[in-house]
Amino acid sequence: MRFDIVTIFPRFFDGIFEHGILRRAIAEARVAVATHDLREFTHDRHRTVDDRPFGGGEGMVLKPEPIAGALASLGIGTKAERGASLEATADPSTPVADATFAQDDKVESGAGTRVILLSAQGRRFDQSLARELAHLDRIVFVCGRYEGVDERVNQLYCDMELSIGDYVLSGGELAAAIVIDTVMRLLPGVLGNEASSEFESFGTADAEITTDVDGVPRSQHGAGGLLDYPHYTRPAEFAGLRVPEVLMNGDHQQIRRWRREQQLRKTLANRPDLLAEAQLDKQDRRLIEAIRSEAG
Ligand code: SAM
Repeated sequence: MRFDIVTIFPRFFDGIFEHGILRRAIAEARVAVATHDLREFTHDRHRTVDDRPFGGGEGMVLKPEPIAGALASLGIGTKAERGASLEATADPSTPVADATFAQDDKVESGAGTRVILLSAQGRRFDQSLARELAHLDRIVFVCGRYEGVDERVNQLYCDMELSIGDYVLSGGELAAAIVIDTVMRLLPGVLGNEASSEFESFGTADAEITTDVDGVPRSQHGAGGLLDYPHYTRPAEFAGLRVPEVLMNGDHQQIRRWRREQQLRKTLANRPDLLAEAQLDKQDRRLIEAIRSEAG
């Protein structure tokens, strides 16, 4: 999968992709990331990328022409030219491309390409959207700054406005990095353990889990839309706190039940909103009632 980032601060990304899983994925050519300096697509002496807003008001707005020029250099035309759907979600049945792209910009911009405008006004990013995006071949990010981007860029070129949360950042760069990090770790072969992403917070339901881990029953892990359970490693005792005994007795059924209960407890405490969408069985519902009545 390839990620292109159009930004006025390409140096922002120095070092960001040089660690851990993403560094390895790039080294193994499973993922390519390229930044594109918006100022390279200006034609005046001052390399102007912004201008005052029509109608008055605070701040500056990113001009449309340099962004259009940057996208054209990446082979990205308007939506009408690309025939792309305005609703940007990828077809989940499309196999994830295992393509390795050359590290230059001459990449096909076909049906598996989407242009995403990072914006506080966008659809909120979450794990299920990350799973959809992971089916694409290529994502081109347009990073806003100042008061944002001239709306015609959105209208003409962008398949989706995407927000990483209900708060306002000073630029789209951090948001692009977060989306890239989240999506790339869902690509085949990127995580050391193929199944890990199914078993964490917001993970897939037990029934959708494809892989057993170390012979442990798969239902031990599936998050099914809940938050993850707590994890422990050695030493068994730290600062007077012992690891829960149940994790050390080797009884997978007990461990499974304990972990499920912990998931429910954590989700109830920190993100009760997730319970509405989570896949819960009768036993889960009984546990939730019990936990609620404990709290009084
Ligand atoms: N005037 C805009 C508004 O109120 O929605 C805020 C502009 S913000 C200061 C500058 C840029 O940061 C935006 O154009 C966008 O690219 C990025 N940005 C800010 N908050 C974001 C968020 N929650 N998610 C994604 N991008 C964001």
